[in-house]
Amino acid sequence: MDPVSDVPGSQDSFQELWQNVCPPPLGNDPTGSWLPPGEMLPFGEDLSGTFDDNLFNIPLEHIAITDVNPPPTTVPVTTDYPGDYQLALRFQKSGTAKSVTSTFSETLNKLYCQLAKTSPVEIRVSREPPKGAVLRATAVYKKTEHVADVVRRCPHHQNEDSVEHRSHLIRMEGSQLAQYFEDPFTKRQSVTVPYEPPQPGSEMTTILLSYMCNSSCMGGMNRRPILTILTLETEGMVLGRRCFEVRVCACPGRDRKTEEENRQKSTQPKKRKMTPNTSSAKKTKSHSSGEEEDKEVFHLRVVGRERYEMLKKINDGLELLDKEGNKVPTKIPSSGKKLLHKTDSE
Ligand SMILES: [Zn+2]
Repeated sequence: MDPVSDVPGSQDSFQELWQNVCPPPLGNDPTGSWLPPGEMLPFGEDLSGTFDDNLFNIPLEHIAITDVNPPPTTVPVTTDYPGDYQLALRFQKSGTAKSVTSTFSETLNKLYCQLAKTSPVEIRVSREPPKGAVLRATAVYKKTEHVADVVRRCPHHQNEDSVEHRSHLIRMEGSQLAQYFEDPFTKRQSVTVPYEPPQPGSEMTTILLSYMCNSSCMGGMNRRPILTILTLETEGMVLGRRCFEVRVCACPGRDRKTEEENRQKSTQPKKRKMTPNTSSAKKTKSHSSGEEEDKEVFHLRVVGRERYEMLKKINDGLELLDKEGNKVPTKIPSSGKKLLHKTDSE
C-alpha cells in the first residue's frame, strides 16, 4: 500500500513541489546530494522535468546493490592486500638520471613521473584471476586531513583537454578497453582495464599509467601528496590491492634522489645525535669532577618503584657526599683507617 498514490490529488501537489524545488540547485547543492541530471547513473533519467513515481523506491534498490558491490566508502582503503592471487607490482628500474621521465623509489614506495608521460607498471599474480577480472587505478590524497577530498585534475588542465574523461587525473594508456568511472555517491574517479594474462614467455602483465596534472597544480592537487590504489577486481569484489605514492613533477630523477637522501638523513641523525650527546655528557662529567661545579638539574624517568628506590639511594648517597663537600675525602679514609686499626689491633 502506497499512501501517496492512495490519496487523490496528493501526487499533483507533490509534483508541483518537486518542480519548485528541483531545477535551480542541481549540482550546486552544498550537501552534494544532488547530481547533475546526466550523472544520475542509477536513475538513468532526467528528473528535472517530470516526477518519477518510483523515485522513492530507487534508493532502497541501490542500497541492495551497494551491499553486493564494494561499499562507496568515503575513505578508500590504502593498505596492501596481496590476496589469494598474490597481487604484486614491479616498476622499471629507471634510475635517477636527469632525463628520466618516470622512476620508482623502492625505499619510499613512491613513483616520480612527468605530467602525461607513461609509467609502465608490471602486474604479477600467482594464478590466473577469474574471467572478466579488471585492474582499477584510483587516486587518493595521502594525508588524513585531505583524504576526504576527491582527487581531480586542476581546472586549467581540464579546460585544455577535450576528451570525455578530461577531469580524471589517472589514465590508462595503450588499451582501447580502458573505462573511466565516477562513483555517483563519493564522486571518486577511477579507471579500469580488463586483466590480460601475460604474453607467452612473460610472467608479468604491463599496464601503462599516466598522470595528467603536476602535484603542484593550483586548484588541483595543490602540492598535496597522493597515493595510487591499484586493485584487482572481479564483479565488484576486490581480489587484491597495492598502493604507492605518486609525485608528478618536472624532474622525477632529481626529486627522487633528493627525497631518498632526505629520508636517509632523517633516519641517520638519530644515530649521529647519540654519539655527540654521550661524548658531550662525558665531557661535562669530567668537567664537573674537575674544575667547575655542575649545577644542571636532570629529570630521570624510572619505571618500577624498586628500581626508583635503588636509584634514589645512589643519588642520596652522592648528594650526601656533595654536602659533606671536600671534607669528606679526608673523613672517609680516616674512619677507614680507624677500622683498619681496630682490625689490626685485634
Ligand atoms: Zn593541472
